[in-house]
Amino acid sequence: MSARILLVEDEPGLVMTLSDLLGAEGYDVESATDGPAGLSKALKEKFDLLVLDVMLPGKSGLEVCRELRQQGNDVAVLMLTAKTQLYDRVVGLKLGADDYLTKPFEPPELLARIEALLRRVKHDKLSPVTRFQFGNVDIDFERGEVHKDGVELNLAAKELELLRYLIDRRGNVVSRDELLEAVWEYQPGVSSRTIDVHVAWLRQKLEDNPQNPRHIHTVRGVGYRFAA
Ligand code: CA
Repeated sequence: MSARILLVEDEPGLVMTLSDLLGAEGYDVESATDGPAGLSKALKEKFDLLVLDVMLPGKSGLEVCRELRQQGNDVAVLMLTAKTQLYDRVVGLKLGADDYLTKPFEPPELLARIEALLRRVKHDKLSPVTRFQFGNVDIDFERGEVHKDGVELNLAAKELELLRYLIDRRGNVVSRDELLEAVWEYQPGVSSRTIDVHVAWLRQKLEDNPQNPRHIHTVRGVGYRFAA
């Protein structure tokens, strides 16, 4: 399947040129022309990579990047910065951008950066997460150990499997159907209610306030989304 790229850029000429260029390379390209639109598109849909301009109306590329990471979205981000703004590059990388390219650039340079980033992402995604830490919770999936505030918790095998599945896809919505298939392998007698009960148990054990969860979010009518 071709990689999906979201281009967040406000200069119409550049949007057109880059969309054509990336489309011709076989990428599936979508675009947004301001910060808020780019952020909401990136959060709602699944992209393999974002080409994110720093200077954008509504919300800067730096803010978009920071908010994506805060929400646990780990999509690859290639930031486009202006030549003079060293500050943007440094801050961009600190806020979670994976790479940057200085404007103006030659198209082959952009394509090379995108290919390299996508290769990196693919490599990282081959192996599921083995250790993960969020809030005051520390999980070692290999050993099946979970600690909260340094105290070891007891998680059932299915709870751990469900948690790992959600964390592997952190930032993305995971539907109940997908969980039934991937975690429960359509065992007889298992319904979406089973998933909800397991999620409630996980929240009870891991969240500071299970009634108002900060990490395991319900996406109404669809399923769940994990945010670190
Ligand atoms: Ca711009």
